[in-house]
Amino acid sequence: MDCLFCKIIAGEIPSSKVYENEYVYAFKDINPMAPVHVLVVPKEHICCADEVNTDNSIYVAKIFEAIPEIAKQLGLTNGYRIINNCGEDGCQSVKHLHFHILGGKKLPETLA
Ligand code: AMP
Ligand code: ZN
Repeated sequence: MDCLFCKIIAGEIPSSKVYENEYVYAFKDINPMAPVHVLVVPKEHICCADEVNTDNSIYVAKIFEAIPEIAKQLGLTNGYRIINNCGEDGCQSVKHLHFHILGGKKLPETLA
């Protein structure tokens, strides 16, 4: 499968890893939109939030269990934002489910 994030998880494309466990891989976004900008992805290929179901939702649970650990590791003691873009109207550019963690400064109230 020709998936950028599957290749990153497999180590075929380099990334700046910040966290990994059996279910979850997290790495720095190549084009950071905030002082801290990390992507958290499931190790199984799930296309998008719209493809989460009872068979694969363990990955989403594991991602959200990992996020507080990742945030602590990154020093995000004053909060952060989690973003998921889904599908064409959500402007999802990489078709492997991922959650953006943004922080390190007071973020604008909305990101258009
Ligand atoms: P989205 O627009 O929600 O699909 O987000 C995709 C994100 O992946 C963007 O913020 C990109 O900057 C990021 N990205 C694309 N290629 C890479 C890469 N090779 N390593 C790290 N982040 C990447
Ligand atoms: Zn993938």
